[in-house]
Amino acid sequence: MMRLYIGEVKKSIGRTFRDVEEENFSPLRWRGEKLPFAQSVRLDALLTNCGGEILVKGVVDTALVMPCSRCLEPTLQKIEAVFYLEYRNLSRIHRLSDIEAEAGEADEVGYFWEEDNYIEVTQEIEELILINLPMKPLCSPYCRGLCPICGVNRNKESCSCEEEIDPRLAVLRNWKKENL
Ligand SMILES: [Zn+2]
Ligand SMILES: [Zn+2]
Repeated sequence: MMRLYIGEVKKSIGRTFRDVEEENFSPLRWRGEKLPFAQSVRLDALLTNCGGEILVKGVVDTALVMPCSRCLEPTLQKIEAVFYLEYRNLSRIHRLSDIEAEAGEADEVGYFWEEDNYIEVTQEIEELILINLPMKPLCSPYCRGLCPICGVNRNKESCSCEEEIDPRLAVLRNWKKENL
């Protein structure tokens, strides 16, 4: 569970507080798979008291293990993302419309009660990591992928399927069969 300390920043308007946190996260659900983290999630955040809300700007960095989109081998993917969260003081909200007010520039809006000393950010950080995952992770930009015919990993093994695909070779082979 990742949380940020607001006990200091909430004391007065304009106050700022830097909070650096590091936490181990459980695997992330992604396209029906579970992606394990290769290292802890590190958060470097600057909290600012803006009156009715606390703004949290920072950087999250970590690394996950994802299957290469070409050869399916597990690959390490570094994630570094800037985030901007807004936490509104529920004790100061009097109308429902204040809760439904738009997030503005913030990636996410959360809430806290006057007496809270911490805000929970685990879910927000997980969502941030998810939207920053590469669409097509690669083990290397030169990955040759799997053979579409026999399925071998072409980075590790070679197969003879490829020449079958080449229509010029197929014509030549047929010609040989007919003429030899
Ligand atoms: Zn690959
Ligand atoms: Zn093959």
